[in-house]
Amino acid sequence: MSENRIYNFNAGPATLPLPVLEEIQASLLNYKSSGMSITEVSHRSPWFDDVINDAIARTKRLLGLDDKFHVLFLQGGASTQFAMIPMNFLADGKSADYVNTGTWSTKAIKEAQIQNKSCNVVASSEDRNFAYIPKDIAFNKDAVFAHITSNNTIKGTQWAQFPDTAGVPIISDMSSDIMSRPLDADKFGMIYAGAQKNIGPAGVCMVIVRDDMLKLIPDNLPSMLNYNTFVAKNSMYNTPPCFSIYCIQLVMKWLEETVGGLAAMEKLNQEKAGLLYDFMDATDFYNATADKDSRSLMNVTFRLPSEDLEQQFIKDATAKGMGGLKGHRSVGGCRASIYNAMPIEGIQTLVAFMKEFQKNNG
Ligand SMILES: *Cc1c(COP(=O)(O)O)cnc(C)c1O
Repeated sequence: MSENRIYNFNAGPATLPLPVLEEIQASLLNYKSSGMSITEVSHRSPWFDDVINDAIARTKRLLGLDDKFHVLFLQGGASTQFAMIPMNFLADGKSADYVNTGTWSTKAIKEAQIQNKSCNVVASSEDRNFAYIPKDIAFNKDAVFAHITSNNTIKGTQWAQFPDTAGVPIISDMSSDIMSRPLDADKFGMIYAGAQKNIGPAGVCMVIVRDDMLKLIPDNLPSMLNYNTFVAKNSMYNTPPCFSIYCIQLVMKWLEETVGGLAAMEKLNQEKAGLLYDFMDATDFYNATADKDSRSLMNVTFRLPSEDLEQQFIKDATAKGMGGLKGHRSVGGCRASIYNAMPIEGIQTLVAFMKEFQKNNG
C-alpha cells in the first residue's frame, strides 16, 4: 500500500477509501480556489451549501430515497439517537417494539426505559450471547415503530433480510452497515448511522427520517433534540460538523462514481466476507462466533484455540501491517472489520497471514 499505510481492520473510526483521503488532503489548504481550507469556509457560504446538498442528493440516489425522506446530519453520535428516538416518537400512550441483538440494541432500549417510555422487547438473542438474529418475531400492530440494529458491530451478526413488521415502520441503527447494500427504503420510518464506521470520520450521525414520522413529534422538546428543527433548517440550525459532512460527500461520490452503486458494493462485500468465512470454515483452528445464517459481512468475529494464541495472533498481524484485529473489550477474541473501504487485497493478505500463523502454531 502507498504511504506506508496499513490494512486497518478497526471497527470505528475505521478505514476510508484512499482516493477520498487524497481529495481531502488536496482541499485542506485551498478549497476550490476559495483561498480557504475546507475546514475554514463558513457553513453559510455557497461552498458549503454545495457540499451538504450534494451529500444529500448522492445519499438519496444511492439508497433510492424519494421526497418522503429527509437526510439530516446531527451531532452526538448514534448514541444520542438512542435517546432522541423515544423522545420524539413516543408520546404518552404510545409504545414501540425493540429487538435486542447485542450491545448497541441494549443501549437503545435503556435510553427508552430511562425516559419511562413504553417499549416492548419483542425478541432477544441474549440467551446465546447474541450469536444470532432472532426469527419469526411477532411485532405489535399498534407499535409506533419497530427498532432493530441492522448490523451488530461487536457480536458480528447482521440481519440478512429485514423483518416483516406488518406495516409498522422500522427504525434501524445502521451505524456499521449503511451503504453496504441496496435498501428497500419504504419499510423504514427512520435510519441512522454514526459516520465513523462505513461512511466517514467521527463527529456526525446521518439520520434519514420519513415525513410522516415528523407529525408524531411533540412541540415541547428542546430545539436541539427535535428532528423538526433540523428538517426545517437543512441540518444548519446551528453550526453543523462541516468537515465530517464534507468527508461523507466524498465517500458518497466514491460509492457512486468509482464503485458503481450499492448493488456493486454489496457484491464486493459478499466476495470479501466470503473469502474470510470460507477459509475459517475449512479449519478447526479459527472459529467464527456467529451462527452461519446471521453472519455479518462487515464485522467478522472469530476465536482461536486459546487466549494466548489470540494475543500472539494480534501481535504478529500488527507487525505485518494489519491493525485493529482485537475483538471488542467486552467479548474478547478477534474481529476483522471489513467495511466498504477495505480493499479485497486487505482480506487476501489477512487470509494468507492466517494460513501461515496456523501452520506455525497449529
Ligand atoms: C459504534 C456504534 C454505535 C455508537 O456510535 P457513536 O457514534 O459512538 O455514538 C451505535 N450503534 C452501532 C451499531 C455502532 O456500531
